[in-house]
Formats: sequence, structure tokens, C-alpha cells
Amino acid sequence: MSATPDQIIRPEILSLSAYHVQPANRMVKLDAMENPFNLPQSLRNEIAQLTAEAPLNRYPDASASHLKDRLREALDIPPGMDILLGNGSDEIIQIIALAVAKPGAVLLSVEPAFVMFRMIATFAGMSYAGVPLKDDFTLDLDEMLDAISQHQPALIFLAYPNNPTGNLFDDASILQILDAAPGLVVIDEAYHAFADASLIDRLAQYPNLLLMRTLSKLGLAGLRLGLLIGRPEWLTQLEKLRLPYNVGVATQLIAEKVLQHIDILLQQASSIKAERAVLVRALQAMVGVEVFPTDANFILIRTADAGQVFQGLKQRGVLIKNLDGSHPLLKNCLRVTVGTSDENMQFLAALQASIKQPIN
Ligand code: PMP
Repeated sequence: MSATPDQIIRPEILSLSAYHVQPANRMVKLDAMENPFNLPQSLRNEIAQLTAEAPLNRYPDASASHLKDRLREALDIPPGMDILLGNGSDEIIQIIALAVAKPGAVLLSVEPAFVMFRMIATFAGMSYAGVPLKDDFTLDLDEMLDAISQHQPALIFLAYPNNPTGNLFDDASILQILDAAPGLVVIDEAYHAFADASLIDRLAQYPNLLLMRTLSKLGLAGLRLGLLIGRPEWLTQLEKLRLPYNVGVATQLIAEKVLQHIDILLQQASSIKAERAVLVRALQAMVGVEVFPTDANFILIRTADAGQVFQGLKQRGVLIKNLDGSHPLLKNCLRVTVGTSDENMQFLAALQASIKQPIN
């Protein structure tokens, strides 16, 4: 008799629900922190030419050395630090967790945080501990330090700015966490392009610090390229877990080309920041909407009956993210990605209508 999945699959995997991606068919898509702008036509033509000539019959350069050189220049990677590439930064989280997952090892983060921290802890067979943020979504340093001394985490993940709340944590508190941590601390700067702060310059000072970035939010979510920046002694070990061809030929070629025009992406990020300011002001002026501070390309808001408002927006063709029910601190919270000014106007109109006239 052959086995059933419940007999063979690990119980903690059986009880997981898969990462949910909402279908967006033809809606105004403001749910996934994507950059709403495409690349200029001339650059898209160059990319078309490049991919037409790409050696797709060959495996990619396993070390992706040209791409790493471009990343070094474009992102000002500090001298002496190495780069590890992932198929999105999701994959890097997994590589790090797999590397440190000794029996009983703990991954510590805050709650609410990016859900993949917790999920990947489970994939890797690590224990997970989440320290609740304060009601205003700031870091609870005392609770963090207690949790560090109690759990002795092998790995701490903090997103800076945080997803889904959008705020930057206090950097003095992060430095105290770095001092107290017995293991690695990974600062996930996925939203760096929209914040005016980074901990990248701290790499030289803290031997247990690693820093993660991604090209996804900058405008290349479809390419899947994330990077980890850190000391060679850590990255040499982590490289052993990276599958040899995790970054494909097309991703390498296109990312190299686009990074030569990083100014275009940065210009788009600065337009998104300007649109964000307009959107925040409009939301603050709306009765019945609480707006939380953001340094990312999305805004967290709270309304009465977020579930109804979310459905109302959906009926009006606008897709955002409903966070109600995902954590007690996120009661009645919704997260909206900053889009083009047209998209933001459509969202604001649909939000106003959904608050005034809830659906039945
Ligand atoms: N970190 C954070 C904080 C995120 O919000 C996300 C995406 N939502 C990621 C990492 C993963 O990004 P990617 O895999 O596209 O690089």
C-alpha cells in the first residue's frame, strides 16, 4: 500500500497554508509593492535585442561576476563586502535559514513582519519566535532584548522599512539588538529606494550583520533578483547552499543592462515618493481613515470594517491588501501600494465610495 501525504510530509508543512497571491485580473493592482512604471521604450528595445542574442542553450554564469560588478557600482556596496545573489530575496532568506538550522535553532523577528520570515523558518525546520511591535508599530526594544536572552536566536530578521507597516525602526534600537544578538542579524532593506536611511555603513562595524536588498521594488519584480551583502567569512559559507544556476541567463543580462541605467529606476522611485506624499495627504484628509507613517512604497491605513472596505474597493476594480485578521495589531488594517497618480486617484475615489456606501 502506498503512503499518503499525511504519512510522509512533515506535520509542520501539512499545517502551513501556502503563500497566497491574489488574482488581479485587469484590476488596478496596488497589492504587491510593485513599481507602476515600465522602462523607457529605448531601453526595452535594447533588452529585446539582448535577449534575442542570449545563449539560452547554455547554463548561466554560475558566479554571475559581471552582474555582481554592476551591482557593486550601482548600489555602492562597501569595499571588502561580498555579494550573494538569490532568485529574489525570498530565496536568500531561505539560504540563510537552511545554513543555520541546527536542531532547536531559533529565528526571531517582530510581529507583524514579512510573513516569509516565519514561513521559511518552518521550511528550514527552525523554531520561530515573533516579538510584537508596540501599538504604533515601533520596535519594543525591551521585549526584543528579553526575547534575545531567552531564545538565544541563531538568526534575527528585521525589515527596514518594515512590511506590512511601512515604518523604519529606530536605528539606535537596532544597534542595541546587534550588540545583544548571539547570532546573525539580517537587515532586510527591500524598500530601501523609498527610505532615506540604510544600515549598509554599519557592516564594517558589526561582524554579525548581513544586509539584504532586492531589485523587485525598484522596478524589476518580474526578473527575480535579490542580493545579500556581507563579510566574506559569512558569505563563503552561505554560497555553499546557493543552487549553482539560481540566477538565469536572461535575468543576468537584463539586470546588467538596466543597472547601467540605475538613474532611471531611481528617478521612478523618487516619483513614487512624491506620489506617496500626495496620497498620504489625501488619506489624512479622509474622515474614517487612520494613516500610519511610511518610508516605503506602500501605506498602511485603518478604517472601520476593513473587510467591507476591501470588498468595496475590489468591486470598484481596485486591488489592495487586506491585513485584517493576519495579526491582532493589524485589526481593520489595509495596505495600499503607491501607484501612478491616475491609479492613486482611482483608489482614493473607490475608497471614499466604499467607506460611504459599504456593500451588503
Ligand atoms: N523582504 C520584504 C520585507 C518584502 O516585503 C519582500 C516582498 N514582499 C521580500 C523581502 C521579497 O522580495 P523579492 O523576493 O521579490 O526580492
